[in-house]
Amino acid sequence: MVVTNSSKDVLRGVCYKKRLLVYPILILSVLLVSMKLAVAFSYEAPGQLVSGSGTGREDYNVYMVKMDFPLTEIPAYVNSQVWGVGGNNGPNGSQCDILNYSYPWRDNYCETRSWDMPLCPAGKGHQGVDIRPSGCSKNIYKVVAVESGTITRIGSYTVYHEGNSGIEHRYMHMESLKVELGDDVIMGQELGMVSNKMGGTPTTIHLHYDMRSDGTFIPPYWSLVKSYQLLIDSGRPDWWSLWDWFTSWGWSGR
Ligand SMILES: [Zn+2]
Repeated sequence: MVVTNSSKDVLRGVCYKKRLLVYPILILSVLLVSMKLAVAFSYEAPGQLVSGSGTGREDYNVYMVKMDFPLTEIPAYVNSQVWGVGGNNGPNGSQCDILNYSYPWRDNYCETRSWDMPLCPAGKGHQGVDIRPSGCSKNIYKVVAVESGTITRIGSYTVYHEGNSGIEHRYMHMESLKVELGDDVIMGQELGMVSNKMGGTPTTIHLHYDMRSDGTFIPPYWSLVKSYQLLIDSGRPDWWSLWDWFTSWGWSGR
């Protein structure tokens, strides 16, 4: 093959185009690998409560099969607020202690409480699970609807949501609520922000999430493990942030 000046130019052009492709692919690969490495999710079995915090319910039923995890940011930490570091019955320290913000997850459904809970071994206990967001800050981390449905009741820091599955979901201790009574919401739609609201004295910064079927609080832990694993695996984009971005640029094709 005779290589002329013009064909050299063509070859240079091809190499340049290849280089243009290689760098983004390399950067993307490094990003994806580091995202995976950053998340080493582990969890205790359902019903394995902190020692001394009550008797849990060992329940591997996935009561909500198609469910979005209620927080959008990874990592998030399901663990006890009362028996965790800085909690009323936990080791001394700050609620922001690194131990509260690390895996493994620990179930806290049925943790000792004074109110009746028919599915708990003690007949009383915590109605749902408590979830800490990625960081120990309020009004930063979004809470989203775990499935599509309707908002049936709104408190000052609580949202009640009846899902199309028939399960009733409750999200507590939030601020900056984004929905109103009667709103239809879709899975993944923003409801508010994780906070520490509890009327008077604040609680720790966390989301209390529970679900009811025919009025009975059912164990959400295993459904949350599954939905969180899906969130990690899919690296779900934050569609509502994308929506905010579009609307902030004046696009309102609602
Ligand atoms: Zn709770």
